[in-house]
Amino acid sequence: MIIDVHAHLDFDEYKKDIDKVIKKNVEENVKAVICNGVNPKANRRILSLSKKYYLLKSALGYYPSECDQITRQEFNKELEFIKKNKDNIIAVGEVGLDKKYVHNFEKQKEFFEEFIDLSSEINKPIIVHSRKAELEAIDILERKKANKVVMHCFSGKKKLVKRIIENKWFLSIPANVVRNQQFQENVNICPLKQLLTETDSPFLSHNPKVSRNEPRFIANSLKKIAEIKCLDVKELENIIFANYQRLFL
Ligand SMILES: [Zn+2]
Repeated sequence: MIIDVHAHLDFDEYKKDIDKVIKKNVEENVKAVICNGVNPKANRRILSLSKKYYLLKSALGYYPSECDQITRQEFNKELEFIKKNKDNIIAVGEVGLDKKYVHNFEKQKEFFEEFIDLSSEINKPIIVHSRKAELEAIDILERKKANKVVMHCFSGKKKLVKRIIENKWFLSIPANVVRNQQFQENVNICPLKQLLTETDSPFLSHNPKVSRNEPRFIANSLKKIAEIKCLDVKELENIIFANYQRLFL
C-alpha cells in the first residue's frame, strides 16, 4: 500500500502517457496520490484529473516563488477559487516559503499566512514547502496555531525537526531517503505516527538515472524507512496508510 502525499502528475512530463502512468501505479499498489497545485493553471488541471482518476486527490495552492510575483487581486481571485472548491480538495498545497528562488519575501510571508488562515477556515491540512526558509515557516505556522500540517521534503536542522515533532505535525519523507543521510536521520527521530511518504514527482527520484519520478517508486523508501524503524515493510505500510486516513479523510 503506497501513499504519495506530494506529487505533480499534472505536469507536462506525464501529459503524453498519463493513462499508462496511472495504470502502472495502481498495479504496483499505489492507493492515493495527492497532486499539489503550484499555480492557477495547475490547480484547474488537478481538479479535472482527480475527477477522472480515482487514484489522484487534489491539493490546491500557489508555489511561493510564483505567487510572490502576482498582484493582490490575482492572489485574492485564486484564494476565492480554492475556497469555492473546498469540497473537491483534501488539502491546501503546495504553499509556503522559498528563499532559493525569491522575488519578494515579504509577499511570500503575507500570502503564506493567508493560506494558513484558509486551511483553518475550511478545516483542511496544509502541505508546506519551506526551502531555505525552514525557521521562518515554522515560526509563522506556530504563531498562527496551525495544527494539520505536513512539512514536505523538510531539509531544516535537527532542532527544527524536533519542533515539528513537538507540534504534532507530519513529516513527509521523499523517495531520495534511500541515499540522503539527513532524511534518514529525520526518519530516525520522528515518531511513526507522524510519518508520511512522498515523491515530489517528477522530481527527486530515488535513483539519479531515473529522470521521471513516479509514486510507485516509494516502494524503495518504504524499504529504507522500515529498516531504520526496525519494522516489517507491511507493518510500516499500514501505519502510513492509517496516518494518511487520519489526517486527510
Ligand atoms: Zn512540489
